Amino acid sequence: MLAGPTAVGKGTVAADIRHRYPEVWLSVSATTRPPRPGEVHGTHYFFVDDATFDAMVEDGELLEWAVVHGVHRYGTPRRPVEDAVAAGRPALLEIDLQGARQVRRAMPEALFVFLAPPSRDELVRRLVGRGTEGPGERARRLETAEREMAAEAEFDVTVVNHDVHDATDQLVQCMGLAPHPRSGVRG
Ligand code: 5GP
Repeated sequence: MLAGPTAVGKGTVAADIRHRYPEVWLSVSATTRPPRPGEVHGTHYFFVDDATFDAMVEDGELLEWAVVHGVHRYGTPRRPVEDAVAAGRPALLEIDLQGARQVRRAMPEALFVFLAPPSRDELVRRLVGRGTEGPGERARRLETAEREMAAEAEFDVTVVNHDVHDATDQLVQCMGLAPHPRSGVRG
């Protein structure tokens, strides 16, 4: 289970895991947020409308769900996680802190990894630099990030995201897998 502040690079780490560690099963969340350019339904998220999300909650289909940044809802479909765990596949959930707390209650045996930025300044730079959100949204995300930074102590392990490949290797090591050799890939 990987959580951490907004814009710390959780999505980038997840993408790196997808490419370099295909043996790791990555949970695909449902969200009411519209897709960003390049995002693929079923790969990055299941993009659903409010009514569909309501039905998923109602039917108990979500292991956890939360309103993130005070706007859209995000949730982890329960069944695929249970299937992956039952099949003995290393499984990774990339979710926010509120979701992490719910998973902690539902699956206390899971490992909770906090992805931390190299510094607070770096986090702010990444948050603003991404440029995909307006000023109101950016302020909301910064506020969430501050709160989430304070939650590091609740986690089993902290991985500092200096470099995405290093962070990924550390994460898979925490999951009990051997890190793969790099073959000179950077960036
Ligand atoms: P984004 O909109 O940038 O893709 O993601 C926003 C935030 O939602 C990130 O912090 C991400 O970790 C979180 N998130 C993504 N999927 C889930 C989920 O299934 N549950 C929860 N609680 N948070 C999620």
